[in-house]
Amino acid sequence: MNKVAVVGGGAAGLMAAYHAALKGAKVYLFERNPNLGRKILISGKGRCNLTNIKDLHDFIANYPGNGKFLFSSLMAFSNKDLIAFFESLGVKTKVERGGRVFPQSDRSIDVVNALGKGLENLGVTIMHKSRVRGLLIEENQVKGIVFGDTLQEFHCDKVIVATGGLSYPSTGSTGDGYELAKQAGHTIVTLKPALVPLLTQEHWVKNLQGLTLKNVEATMYVKEKKIASEFGEMLFTHYGISGPIILTLSRYAVDHIKHRPVVSINLKPALTEEQLEQRLLRDFDLYKNKMFKNSLNDLLPKKMIPVFVRYTEIDPEKKVNQITRTERKKILDSLRSFCVTITGCREKEAIVTRGGVSIKEINPKTMESKIIKGLYFAGEVIDIDGVTGGYNLQAAFSTGFVAGCNSALK
Ligand SMILES: Cc1cc2nc3c(=O)[nH]c(=O)nc-3n(C[C@H](O)[C@H](O)[C@H](O)COP(=O)(O)OP(=O)(O)OC[C@H]3O[C@@H](n4cnc5c(N)ncnc54)[C@H](O)[C@@H]3O)c2cc1C
Repeated sequence: MNKVAVVGGGAAGLMAAYHAALKGAKVYLFERNPNLGRKILISGKGRCNLTNIKDLHDFIANYPGNGKFLFSSLMAFSNKDLIAFFESLGVKTKVERGGRVFPQSDRSIDVVNALGKGLENLGVTIMHKSRVRGLLIEENQVKGIVFGDTLQEFHCDKVIVATGGLSYPSTGSTGDGYELAKQAGHTIVTLKPALVPLLTQEHWVKNLQGLTLKNVEATMYVKEKKIASEFGEMLFTHYGISGPIILTLSRYAVDHIKHRPVVSINLKPALTEEQLEQRLLRDFDLYKNKMFKNSLNDLLPKKMIPVFVRYTEIDPEKKVNQITRTERKKILDSLRSFCVTITGCREKEAIVTRGGVSIKEINPKTMESKIIKGLYFAGEVIDIDGVTGGYNLQAAFSTGFVAGCNSALK
């Protein structure tokens, strides 16, 4: 029977420990926190978007970071397998908009508790408050780990590193796994925040704090060149912009931050320029005796109007019937391209870390290191990242499954 040490009690580590034990290994799970799955708890705003129901081909397209590497693990443990697995542990699931899968209870704690209970039933030893500090390696073969403040040695046959990425460090993910991988001779692909809220140069965003815009189109420009465009929902915050489409675009902003990318928001993407002009003319005819600042109630959310009016640089008190053709053009342009300049990102609030242990040095069929025998990687510590919608947890669970099963083999 193999003795397996799993480092990290997050999505990947819990799944790895479960399946290694199920396959007959004696498993020890080392978690630096007093409790398991802290990041799962905050995932999906506390509801845990476990996976997505897209089929495999479309699924992989949702990993801008090395999707192909995940092919084997997603085949071995697919979204359907994941749903069936959680149902078998008593966590019923439901599908929401965009194919997102959540626990029916809307409680991420049910996911963590189910996994915890599963490990207990399989006799996995959980080493709480045990931070792993190093690996024991002899002749390119893993021999165990070193953990705790007193640098205790723990000898075993296999080690699975599932320490997560770098964001939300309070959950325990502070990048320890990258150091462990480096110690084993692995290459760490440059680490960057991904799916991250963006900071803007414009301080007026503060006045829009909490405002969600639905069905808008955001386009990112770098040095006036269009880089990417997303349609959907976004949010203004006290420091800048966030929400699903901004998180997706953030990838490009992070890559080009020194060029101060511009996000142009089309507030009315469903209308052509001509249709929007007709719409504006209709409203202006209706409100011709009102001041400009009081004429936009049918077009824009209330909170946005004062900011938008200032943005156009047109006198807010000007009567609508005195607005010139040029000014009307400025209003139209602003509705179609309301711009903010990106100056940085909220690194520690990234949903996921891009970069990590190079996929070139990991066998995608087993998750075993190609450098050190008996060493496995799973989850976000690997250089893979997906978009929002359940893809990152599925990647962690699938790679955890594969690493767990293979670590149990002699
Ligand atoms: C706010 C937020 C919301 C999210 N929502 C979703 C969502 O709804 N759906 C989705 O698919 N993805 C979501 N994600 C992403 C997803 O949660 C992560 O990609 C996923 O949890 C990664 O799993 P992991 O097991 O690799 O790492 P983690 O979940 O980060 O787990 C790593 C574990 O290792 C432990 N650890 C670290 N170093 C050591 C050490 N040296 N010794 C011992 N233990 C150690 C940590 O304490 C932690 O428990 C969200 C992320 C965030 C930040």
